[in-house]
Amino acid sequence: MNDSMEQLIGLVGNAERIVVFSGAGISTESGIPDFRGPGGVWEKVDPADFHIDRFLASPENRRRYWLRSVEMYNQILMAQPNAAHRAVVTLERMGKLGAVITQNVDGLHQTAGNSPERVIELHGTTLFVACLSCGHRVRREAFQPLVSAEGDAPGCPECDGLMKPATISFGQMLTPESIERATEETDACDLFLVIGSSLVVYPAAGFPIHATRSGAPLVIVNREDTPHDAYATLVLQETAGEVMERLLEGLGEKQAAVATPLPA
Ligand code: NAD
Repeated sequence: MNDSMEQLIGLVGNAERIVVFSGAGISTESGIPDFRGPGGVWEKVDPADFHIDRFLASPENRRRYWLRSVEMYNQILMAQPNAAHRAVVTLERMGKLGAVITQNVDGLHQTAGNSPERVIELHGTTLFVACLSCGHRVRREAFQPLVSAEGDAPGCPECDGLMKPATISFGQMLTPESIERATEETDACDLFLVIGSSLVVYPAAGFPIHATRSGAPLVIVNREDTPHDAYATLVLQETAGEVMERLLEGLGEKQAAVATPLPA
């Protein structure tokens, strides 16, 4: 086992209240492409198409948005949690998890088995659709069949406002509740573990820095450099699923060693 893995096992082994901060990179091994990694969505799609101003500007833009959005929704519907999501569930069962703060909209932490009340979805969810005027929410599975093959979506059943997937698009505000809860958990954690995020999307990317200012060690597991690497106690530029599996193996060995003291 290399030194970085030993260090990760030590940090997680000693921690009692971990925040896992996940990004699109934790779900690529489940078959959902990320945005900025190699082969990511931004190589094919203009990010400006996902700006809220574009969505509001014209029916034609909204049709394009819905047609693009359903592609990702279908990928998410087919996706299953991977080893990294399952490892985060194990951390919760071990009593070590304060919260998962996720930028993801795929619901895979909850599908894997994390308690929904411990998962803070900073960027909303693709599994619901919400009215931009009155906030009325419906499950996407009930709404999506009402969207025409051309991308025309019906208005809100309550107020006829514009319905949009309940994700936070560029230009939309994060909810005050999600920021407040994420801040509280970040303040209270004794280890902040980033898994699969480029750490360039704000305000989300401010939480790892906030954690270091509150005194928590920062660990970043991401296949590429991030702008926050210099602030981290430990950086592992490796694949999330493999790192998390080896972490659990290492924690298991450590626990077994404690439970079975050597004979005198
Ligand atoms: P990002 O696309 O900017 O960055 C993902 C990072 O993860 C990249 O640096 C990439 O190298 C790394 N990565 C990819 N696969 C990895 C793996 N298996 N192991 C380790 N690292 C891996 O994603 P972001 O930082 O989350 O920010 C972008 C936005 O993308 C978020 O707001 C999120 O809402 C949205 N998004 C979400 C999903 C999803 O819900 N699954 C998918 C795509 C985009």
